[in-house]
Amino acid sequence: MAETKQFKAESKRLLDMMINSIYTHKEIFLRELISNASDAIDKLYFKSLTDDKVNMNKDDFCIFITADKDNGVLTISDNGIGMTKDELENNLGTIANSGSLAFKTENSGAEDIDIIGQFGVGFYSAFMVAKEVEVRSKAYGEDKAFLWKSEGVEGYTIEECDKDTVGTEIRLTLKDNTDDESYDDYLMDWKIKSLVKKYSDYIRFPIKMEVEHDHLKEGTGTNDVPPEYITHKEIETLNSMVPLWRKSKNEITDEEYTKFYREKFYDYNEPLAHIHTKAEGTATYDALLYIPSEAPMDYYTKEFSKGLQLFSSGVLIMDKCADLLPDHFSFVKGLVDSQDLSLNISREMLQHDRQLKLIAKSLERTIKNELKKMLSNDREKYEKFWKAFGLQIKFGMYNGYGVNKDLLKDLLLFYSSHEKKLVTLDEYVSRMKEDQKYIYYAAGESVAKIDCLPQTEVVKDKGYEILYLTESVDEFAIQMLMEYEEKQFKSVSASDLDIETPEEKEEFKKIAEENKDLFAYIKDSLDGKIKEARLSERLKTHPCCLTNEGQISLDMEKTFAAMPNSEHNVKAEKVLELNPEHPMFRTLQKLYETDKEKLKDYSKILYTQALLIEGMTIDDPLDFSNLVCSLMVNSVES
Ligand code: ADP
Repeated sequence: MAETKQFKAESKRLLDMMINSIYTHKEIFLRELISNASDAIDKLYFKSLTDDKVNMNKDDFCIFITADKDNGVLTISDNGIGMTKDELENNLGTIANSGSLAFKTENSGAEDIDIIGQFGVGFYSAFMVAKEVEVRSKAYGEDKAFLWKSEGVEGYTIEECDKDTVGTEIRLTLKDNTDDESYDDYLMDWKIKSLVKKYSDYIRFPIKMEVEHDHLKEGTGTNDVPPEYITHKEIETLNSMVPLWRKSKNEITDEEYTKFYREKFYDYNEPLAHIHTKAEGTATYDALLYIPSEAPMDYYTKEFSKGLQLFSSGVLIMDKCADLLPDHFSFVKGLVDSQDLSLNISREMLQHDRQLKLIAKSLERTIKNELKKMLSNDREKYEKFWKAFGLQIKFGMYNGYGVNKDLLKDLLLFYSSHEKKLVTLDEYVSRMKEDQKYIYYAAGESVAKIDCLPQTEVVKDKGYEILYLTESVDEFAIQMLMEYEEKQFKSVSASDLDIETPEEKEEFKKIAEENKDLFAYIKDSLDGKIKEARLSERLKTHPCCLTNEGQISLDMEKTFAAMPNSEHNVKAEKVLELNPEHPMFRTLQKLYETDKEKLKDYSKILYTQALLIEGMTIDDPLDFSNLVCSLMVNSVES
């Protein structure tokens, strides 16, 4: 049998890779060192629960940061479990050896610990910013303390040193500034504060630092005396420690939820709603989500990027994890904290997205339910939501060939002829008349304009409600849906309106047949602009209107024409409908017998008027104007 050989590792190269290749941002070294300190404290705290000799309370533990600006040294110290000489050797001298992972495995099942480390490489990130790292450590229960010291890939030394208290102190002598990188920044109060807030705000133990404050000297800063300041040093706790989302809901007031939202997501407005959930089972996570009350300025532009913050054990992993939110709910802001994520080695990303997908699916359901709840319990609030984000939901109906239409359809609102209010499809269907077959809709620029459309006359006359589609995406969304509660949608401009009674149908057929030649002549006069001229079943008072055949409606034609870079040739198949009840119809009949040339002109005028009523552009305004003028002149002369 062939002999199995061990792989060899080029440890200098390996360490170089650990230091320089796995992280995208140098600043995360602080997150890694603070996480290590927190783990060390967790371990001693865990011991203290069963060992009286530790003699420490939870409140005694702390992580301390000191910035020595004069010497360029940043120190992070903790009063955690510390490391023995052997542990320094094993944990810091062996790449990818994680004492923390071993501890977690040995004590798995213990409730009150929240160990972060697992890969055994985070510590080396210190060398991204430091030219020398010194670790002084005294392990719990030991008399001696040891100093581990290294300048990076060349190796390390360990020797005995003085240290009175149990715990670990990590001293980083920062690299010299370069053109691209100012390492001095890591000594600035503002920088340290912001990094702690960003990555380590929810570390369970206080992270403290001595911070300088300027106070106005007493008796100065008045009208006569110019202001003088005294610099004053104070120890400040930089992190908020308790993640709001880990508290139980009944401990949190609405004000606290709002305050958190405003501070964390930089929105001055109050959120419309918050969703605080804890999920267990296939996906285990805590989530705190908010629905903003207004769309951000860039919301409907390419600049907007969606996403939720992702935390693992209270440490920030990603600031905007886009995969957690589907596009139709991209307006949601918030965060997710999960302990079961399998992170990649840099802890900046996930290994694979199976858990992420499960969490995202579960969040999608939660958000949908919250919106449904708002719709039934607080209509005013929902309408506010709809005003801000309804468009996005409608895009969602249409995107991906309608894969999400069933999820989203009962969130839709449209204006309706019924009291000119926003209605849901459910409300529409519940009010449908007994003999009503379809859900009718009309598309146009505004409620007022749609209201005047001749095509709506007969539907209104029958007492049927009409949905007013005022945004260009509406009709696409409705067509994607096709039906709701087994009722099909029907445009008031559809060629097959299917609204007359059988008697009316008979009568129509007769008149249509009698005027067949007239209609054919009108069609020919319009040189292929229309597919057909025919008798209208939908007009009551107007002489004529345009409708369409096929999928592309008149409104869609307008939408396509308005799109930048569009091929402007997407056209509706237009039908000119004429109202047999209108006196104009008699005039046309008469002209067909007496003056066919004039009938040609009249046909053009009627067609162009119908275009104008639809709000469509006319092909030859000059020709139209000339025709109307000559008509006016003739009517006076004759
Ligand atoms: P990880 O934290 O992923 O385990 P690190 O490279 O950051 O990897 O650290 C390696 C090990 O060194 C840790 O698992 C822990 O056992 C030990 N260690 C690091 N920092 C400290 C500290 N401040 N106090 C005690 N032990 C520490």
